[in-house]
Amino acid sequence: MKEFWSPRIRDMIPYTPGEQPQGQPFIKLNTNENPYPPSPRVLEAVRQAAAGSLRLYPDPESAALRDAVAGRYGLKREQVFAGNGSDEVLAICFQAFFDPERTILFPDVTYSFYPVFAGLYGLSWREVPLDEQFRVHVSDYRGSGGVVLPNPNAPTGLALPLEDIQALLESNPRSVVLIDEAYVDFGAASAAALVGRYPNLVVVQTLSKSRSLAGLRVGFALADADLIAALECVKNSFNSYPLDRLAQAGALAALEDRDYFQQTTEQIIRTRDTVIPRLRALGFQCLPSSANFLFLRHPGTPAKVLLDGLRERGILVRWWDKPRISDYLRVTVGTREEMRALCQALAELTAGR
Ligand code: PMP
Repeated sequence: MKEFWSPRIRDMIPYTPGEQPQGQPFIKLNTNENPYPPSPRVLEAVRQAAAGSLRLYPDPESAALRDAVAGRYGLKREQVFAGNGSDEVLAICFQAFFDPERTILFPDVTYSFYPVFAGLYGLSWREVPLDEQFRVHVSDYRGSGGVVLPNPNAPTGLALPLEDIQALLESNPRSVVLIDEAYVDFGAASAAALVGRYPNLVVVQTLSKSRSLAGLRVGFALADADLIAALECVKNSFNSYPLDRLAQAGALAALEDRDYFQQTTEQIIRTRDTVIPRLRALGFQCLPSSANFLFLRHPGTPAKVLLDGLRERGILVRWWDKPRISDYLRVTVGTREEMRALCQALAELTAGR
């Protein structure tokens, strides 16, 4: 076995994505997808793009999409990079900015793809412990070979203010600080406002969450033009066309429909803020979330029992059998009806405990 595998990957443990069940209708609260469909303008744009010329390659530069992103953040096209989901953008950042000779830092409880990317590209990394309440202290990240930090963090949902991000940038002047803003639109301040002021800042965002386009695979990075040129260099040494015609057209339409984006994100935030007190009334400890998910535990009921009990009741959530977080569940904020079903099921599972 593995005879023909490159020695580089023989011992690698890849990232495991959340389950995507085929067939059986679950209430899906396990992968932080948006419970609402994308803007109707996205579907129309994708339809038109499909009726157009799929015979031809797409724009390798994703110019119209990058212009739309740049316009939204007051930047130039040269300060925007687009990729096939933010996972791909993050992977390209790891290749483009980090040096195998210098250790990169990220929290011990964070997005579990980071150590996988670091392993794949032969980088050394150190996991910096969050404090007892799962908070990041930016003073723990001084003088590194690079920092990777989601804001809000995942799976905790806790956000840092921009002053902390600035402190991080200033205490790592010789390294890239990569801020993964997959969930920023649900209540955190975006470091996009700092692009142009810090030459070592890279902000990564996705259309998978707040724009309901997990199925289209579009993410982007914002940074100084010199850093974006590095990302283009890696991309063009790997795949000239990561974004197909449908993805470029759909993503552009999603960015243009600002009203729809605002309505759906506000609804998710409202739902989140009403469900937290209901869960606390059931005895759950729930971290204050700035994201579209909750991180919670029940002192009397093991998380695995809740995970399995919810599944039997047709509800999928996420659980990790990992140090520090094995008592917790991560639950995506769905529609109000889905949250009602969740609370009902959790009330049954914790009754008398
Ligand atoms: N960053 C974080 C923190 C995430 O949770 C996710 C989604 N699993 C991603 C990035 C990647 O999202 P996508 O590739 O869909 O843009």
